[in-house]
Amino acid sequence: MNNKLLSLLHQRATRIEHSVIPQSVCVYCGGPVAPHRAPSGQTQDLDLFIPIRELVIARRRHPLLHLPNWLLPCCRTCNQIASGYVFVTFLTKFDFLQSRRRSNTSWTICDNPRAGELSELVVSRDFSSIILPLDERFAPRRIIHCPERVLNDSLWIIAKRMIPLCSSEIPFSGR
Ligand SMILES: [Zn+2]
Repeated sequence: MNNKLLSLLHQRATRIEHSVIPQSVCVYCGGPVAPHRAPSGQTQDLDLFIPIRELVIARRRHPLLHLPNWLLPCCRTCNQIASGYVFVTFLTKFDFLQSRRRSNTSWTICDNPRAGELSELVVSRDFSSIILPLDERFAPRRIIHCPERVLNDSLWIIAKRMIPLCSSEIPFSGR
């Protein structure tokens, strides 16, 4: 499949089971944004909480699982920093973005009028159930990169995890 077609399919996937939080500020740094999702599914100034590529793969290979996603208002800079990384909770992603942008922003989660709703945002139990430690015995698998805080507040590592793609071999803790 060529890249253009793949990109089109990924755009369309943003129309399916994606909740949108309408706001004109970046949820990570507070910068002004003009979020928009076109009828084609193409997005502007919106962060796909679960990266679309990983989500599409997970939905295709685990069709019985409940795998919703969110479109969050997000500036271009924060979007680029978080691009491709998988987080299980919004607060972890927020902390990661804040740690990478500390010198540029004094925005805190409490400054967002929708802080309560965002603080509770986590991926579905089904999605977290298919994120597993990297295990060479499982193939095929999709390797994903999950930033994790270690030792102290300022140090992050990019941990490698996997989404196994042979659903019949994996016992799921989700429904
Ligand atoms: Zn931002």
